[in-house]
Amino acid sequence: MQNGNGRHGNGTFTAQLSIKSPMPFQRDVYRRAVYQEPAPLGHSDNPFQEMMERFAEAAEIIALDEGVFTYLSRPARVHITSVPVAMDDGSLKVFEGYRVIHNEVLGPSKGGVRFAPDVNLDEVKALAAWMTWKCAVVGVPFGGAKGGIRCNPAEMSPGELERLTRRYTANLMDVFGPDKDIPAPDMNTNEQIMAWLLDTYSMHVRRTETAVVTGKPLALGGSLGRKEATGRGVMTTTLAAMERLGMRPADSTVAVQGFGNVGSIAAMLLHEQGCKIVAVSDVSGGYYNANGIDINAAMDYAAEHGRSLAGFDGAEEITNEELLELEVDILAPCAKENQITEHNAANIKAKIIAEGANGPTTTEADKILKDNGVLVIPDILANAGGVTVSYFEWVQNRHGYFWSMERVNRRLDRMMREGFDKVYDAGEKHDTPLRIAAYIIAIEKVAQALKLRGIYA
Ligand code: NAD
Repeated sequence: MQNGNGRHGNGTFTAQLSIKSPMPFQRDVYRRAVYQEPAPLGHSDNPFQEMMERFAEAAEIIALDEGVFTYLSRPARVHITSVPVAMDDGSLKVFEGYRVIHNEVLGPSKGGVRFAPDVNLDEVKALAAWMTWKCAVVGVPFGGAKGGIRCNPAEMSPGELERLTRRYTANLMDVFGPDKDIPAPDMNTNEQIMAWLLDTYSMHVRRTETAVVTGKPLALGGSLGRKEATGRGVMTTTLAAMERLGMRPADSTVAVQGFGNVGSIAAMLLHEQGCKIVAVSDVSGGYYNANGIDINAAMDYAAEHGRSLAGFDGAEEITNEELLELEVDILAPCAKENQITEHNAANIKAKIIAEGANGPTTTEADKILKDNGVLVIPDILANAGGVTVSYFEWVQNRHGYFWSMERVNRRLDRMMREGFDKVYDAGEKHDTPLRIAAYIIAIEKVAQALKLRGIYA
């Protein structure tokens, strides 16, 4: 029975929830949603604002309903928790921990936990929203979340890190869960941290719950192919982009910034596909060889030298700034955020930028790259391979079954390929860069699910 204000007696909202606004979308709505008061749009180092800039642009193109826009611009829940830790020297230190659930309309929320001295709530909020969009773009049935602890892991002993992780997990017992919110590794967290998180959660619920976390060691239910998944997704989407532009791997040169998990695997796999990797870099600097770098030798070197390329002699030394501006066909920023900015975007010569890192390109740089006809495969698509195989890990845990590497890679390649094609087609349809097209795909998917579910009140 419907009452006068459009609600059933059981409280569900029955008025047709439309994802499209009958009125043209107003940028003012965005300003109000972000700042709670009108404020100028413009450049910002604040990752939440960077994310909102793109979200607002995509929302405007599809005339997203204002209410839906406001709903998706805010996290569903924000948890801030004090994490007391008994330090090795007998002192007590209290760390600030965060877990932000941005959205769970498509499924349980998913996202990493980072440990860093400068983690803050705005950063975690932005990263949580990015997870929502990332999962939606590639068709992973998860919502978005992110967590963090403000600490300096480089100064902490393994015992202190273990106690920090366990107490953070205990504090968030009501938040985490295989059907609710599933953490994963991120900056400065790894398989071991995930193993402690799994153990702490399992102790509390009195059963071993492997599906509560992904990116865990193989021996505890981790998935084959998870470690390589993000770099592999970068390779798959880059090949898909090259096909669209009529570029052949054998004729293409590549520069990769960042030689960690994502960059080194992306470089190796693109090399295996026939591309010539002429430059790689890490925090120690850039390494250039016009004849092609021996990627296996570089990986062995980094493995033997504390994950650093410092002193690698198979190439000439250049700076990280020079690497970005090299005369190459493909540039893969796989290190950190804000590397391609209004200061260097005009000097970039690559035809394709494949964003292995999260947020390597600023909003201002995007405009310059668009004008110069550079095809940017955006982070929420290019690096979604990691969360895709995390999803496979969760599926395997829940089935109590292991997939072969071949099965993991085949399914990953298919999902990344389909994600790329959808985004590319949306870019053509709306005449927008792929980043905005990816946001459009993601927003439409989440908004559609929201419309079907309705607003429960
Ligand atoms: P990592 O720590 O394994 O590697 C980072 C690499 O970047 C290292 O080689 C480091 O030396 C280098 N680096 C750091 N600062 C640099 C600088 N200023 N200039 C050049 N190189 C620099 O990290 P990762 O897991 O490879 O992640 C890299 C990026 O990819 C991050 O933005 C991360 O958020 C993103 N990402 C990672 C995954 C994943 O599954 N690992 C998934 C999605 C996105």
